[in-house]
Amino acid sequence: MQNTNTIVPRQLLITVSGCHCPLPGSHHHNSRVQRPSSSPPLSLYLASLRSRFSMRMPPMAGLTKILLFPLLLLFSAAAASSPSSDAEAVSRFQEYLRIDTAQPAPDYAAAVAFLRDQAAAAGLEARTLEPVAGKPLLLLRWPGRRPSLPAILLNSHTDVVPSEPKKWKHGPFSAALDESSGRIYARGSQDMKCVGMQYLEAIRRLRNAGFVPDRNIYITFVPDEEIGGHEGVEPFVASKEFKELNVGLVLDEGLASPGEEYRVFYAERSPWWLSIKAKGAPGHGAKLYDGSAMENLMKSVEAIRRFRTAQFDLVKSGEKAEGDVVSVNFVYLKAGTPTPTGFVMNLQPSEAEVGIDIRIPPSVHTEALERRLVEEWAPASRNLTFEFKQKGSVLDNFGKPAMTTADSSNLWWPVFEEAVKRAGGKLSKPEIFPASTDARYFRELGIPAFGFSPMANTPILLHDHNEFLSKDEYLKGIGIYESIIKALSTHEADAIDSESRAEL
Ligand SMILES: [Zn+2]
Repeated sequence: MQNTNTIVPRQLLITVSGCHCPLPGSHHHNSRVQRPSSSPPLSLYLASLRSRFSMRMPPMAGLTKILLFPLLLLFSAAAASSPSSDAEAVSRFQEYLRIDTAQPAPDYAAAVAFLRDQAAAAGLEARTLEPVAGKPLLLLRWPGRRPSLPAILLNSHTDVVPSEPKKWKHGPFSAALDESSGRIYARGSQDMKCVGMQYLEAIRRLRNAGFVPDRNIYITFVPDEEIGGHEGVEPFVASKEFKELNVGLVLDEGLASPGEEYRVFYAERSPWWLSIKAKGAPGHGAKLYDGSAMENLMKSVEAIRRFRTAQFDLVKSGEKAEGDVVSVNFVYLKAGTPTPTGFVMNLQPSEAEVGIDIRIPPSVHTEALERRLVEEWAPASRNLTFEFKQKGSVLDNFGKPAMTTADSSNLWWPVFEEAVKRAGGKLSKPEIFPASTDARYFRELGIPAFGFSPMANTPILLHDHNEFLSKDEYLKGIGIYESIIKALSTHEADAIDSESRAEL
C-alpha cells in the first residue's frame, strides 16, 4: 500500500459489513474472461479432482506410470511441506526482509540480485526491465504448455516505507524471529515482501511436485509502489513488453486480517487531494464584519465536516464498509500573519487555506461530488477558489468504474474462491481497498485484478512500528498460493478460455 495514503484507524479496518456498491456484470472489457456462462459446480469439482491428481506426466509406458505414480506422490508430499523445507522457506523470507529497500533510497540492486537467485533456484526465466533508469523491475516467467491462453500475473512491490528504528523492538531490517511467538519482525513483513516470496515458494513446490501450468505465469517484482508507482507499474503497463504478456488476471496486495478470514479487494478508492483558498478584506481584530477570509473558509470547513460526519456515520453504524464511503480528512490549515515569535493577534488576515484528502470509491458518481464542491465547499460567491493537487479517476480507460467483478459473472472469481477454500482458507466478503495500490494501473486497462495478501489472525501493521508476520501464517500462505496458482493456471475447457480454445 502506498505511503501517501491516509492510514485509517485499525478498528475501522477490522469491521467490514459488506459492500453496497452495485456490481453490474459489464464492468469488464476483457471478453475472454468476463463472458458469463453457466459454470456448474460439477465442473469445478472435476477440475479440483483433476488438479489434485494429475501429475502432468510426460507420455510413458503404462507400467512405468504405475510404478512411478506412488513414488511421485511421495515425492510431492515431501516437497509440499516438511519441517526442513519450511525452515528453509522462512530463512529465505528473512533474507529478503533484510535487504533495505526503504524509500526514499531503496537498494533495488540488492533486491533484484537476491530475487534473480531465487528465480533461478525455482527454475524461472528472468528479465530485468528498467522502465525508468535506476528503477529495475524484475519480470519472471513460468512458461505454460499453452502460451496462447491469457496469462496470470503475480505482482508485488520490492520497496517498503521508511521506519523509525528506535520505536521498534527489533531492528526493522533484522527480520528477527521471536522464538516464543513465532513472529518475524521486519519492515515489509506484511507490505509486501511476504507475498512476493510466497509466490516464489509456492511455485518452487508446485514445480517439485511435477506440476506444469497451462497458462504462462508471470511474476513481477516492481519498484516505487510506495511513492505512487509513477516510475514502476505505471510506465510498465504502457510498455510493449507488458502488452506482449497477454495478461488475463492480476493478483496484487491486500491487507492483513485480525480474524480468521482472508480479505480480498476488487477495487480501490481514488484520491482527490484538494486545496481551498479563501480571500477577504483584512481588518482589525476587534471588528465584526462579514466576508473576512477566515469566515469564508470556516463556512466551507463546516460544510465539509458535515459531509464527513455523514459518511463516517455510515461506517460506524455498520451500514457501509470503509471502502464504500467517501472519506474526507483535513490535512493542513494555513492562515495568519506571522511575526518572529508567532502571529499577529489583532489582525484578521486577507487569505486562508485548507488542504483536504478525499478518497472516492468507484461506485460513487463524481459529478454530484464536484457540484457540491463548486456550490457548497468552495463557491466563488464567497471568494473561494480550489485547486486539485491530485485527482484520480474512478473510471477505467473505457469509461467504466474501475472495478473487478467479484462474483460468478467473472469466471476467474469462482476459481480463485474455490482454490482458497480447497487450501483450507476462508475469504471474507470482497471489499474496496480503502487506499491506493498498483492494482489500479491494471484495472484502468480493464484487466481484472484482485488484491489479496493471505494473512489471517494478524493485526494490521503495515507502515506501523513493529510490523510483523508470524512464521506459521507465512507458511500457511504458501499453501494458499500453491492452490491458487494451480487452479488459475489450469485451463478450463468450457469456461474462461472458450474464445482462446476456439482459436486453437
Ligand atoms: Zn504495499
